[in-house]
Amino acid sequence: MKAAAFDYEAPASLEEALALLQARSDDAKILAGGQSLMPMLNMRLARPALIVDINRLPGLDYIRVADGQLRIGALARHTAVAKHPEVVRGWPVLAEAAAQIGHDAIRNRGTVAGSLAHSDPTAEHPAVLAALDGEVVARSAKGERTLKADELFLGYLTTALRADELLTEVRLPVLPPHTGSTFVEFAPRVGDFAVVGIAAAVTLGGDGAWQDVRLALTGVGGTPFRARQAESALKGTRPKAADIAAAAAQVAEAIEPDSDIKASARYRRQLARTLTERALTTAAERAAGQGGR
Ligand SMILES: Cc1cc2nc3c(=O)[nH]c(=O)nc-3n(C[C@H](O)[C@H](O)[C@H](O)COP(=O)(O)OP(=O)(O)OC[C@H]3O[C@@H](n4cnc5c(N)ncnc54)[C@H](O)[C@@H]3O)c2cc1C
Repeated sequence: MKAAAFDYEAPASLEEALALLQARSDDAKILAGGQSLMPMLNMRLARPALIVDINRLPGLDYIRVADGQLRIGALARHTAVAKHPEVVRGWPVLAEAAAQIGHDAIRNRGTVAGSLAHSDPTAEHPAVLAALDGEVVARSAKGERTLKADELFLGYLTTALRADELLTEVRLPVLPPHTGSTFVEFAPRVGDFAVVGIAAAVTLGGDGAWQDVRLALTGVGGTPFRARQAESALKGTRPKAADIAAAAAQVAEAIEPDSDIKASARYRRQLARTLTERALTTAAERAAGQGGR
């Protein structure tokens, strides 16, 4: 099938793009990497009257550290994020999440901002944003606002972004010393969407105990699931295999996954348990071994 007819604009400035979105907010769609939007257009699951292609907007493909945050512009691609030396060193959870998305061709075009705006329930980036308490910057012709992960993700393919807003920047905090992080997922074949995935970041205190634990899962509901109960149970204790196993069992109990064509709810629970155990173990080893992030 082919997309229904649409008007096409490729603005050369952010102001022009925001003006177009304001004027046509009822029937316009932003095109970034096109790796989710184009299939939806071709299957006619989306039928916007206007496509606003943002690929010619200058200066939005940055990845940089500023003011205690990793800042990622709207046009930074998954591949650039996965290979960026600062990201690999300081935010392995993000680099590993980006590297597990689809295939090379998809990662070379798809953007982190587009993934967050699309909010697929099995996407990797929403779980990273949720685990690290990141935020996004949304700009419209009327102004700018920031949204935290729990404000952004409302449900299956649904966010709090307004139709006239463009997500211009993704922000993740700099992680403290003695932090280890990882993204672990299971997909039946390389390139498939994950069935379940987990973003984990742990910080060890001077006494070797868990000072901070952050866990967020994808593939277990319409929005990322932040496993706060398991996080609290581990904080203050020293990393022990039995406690990690208990936390993983608690996560499996707490989630309410659906059954679908890819996996039963029971299978997703089992995966969540196994992957949580794996992610916590790896993150703790990294925190202890590297003496830093
Ligand atoms: C075969 C295949 C496998 C894939 N596997 C995975 C996978 O394993 N994991 C995964 O997470 N994704 C996967 N994807 C999707 C891919 O990661 C996309 O790149 C991503 O979901 C969307 O990013 P994009 O830049 O391509 O956005 P687009 O497709 O251009 O846009 C997606 C949606 O977001 C909106 N949007 C885009 N940018 C902005 C912005 N800056 N502000 C506001 N709204 C915006 C668009 O209007 C649209 O509604 C796969 C895609 C394919 C085709």
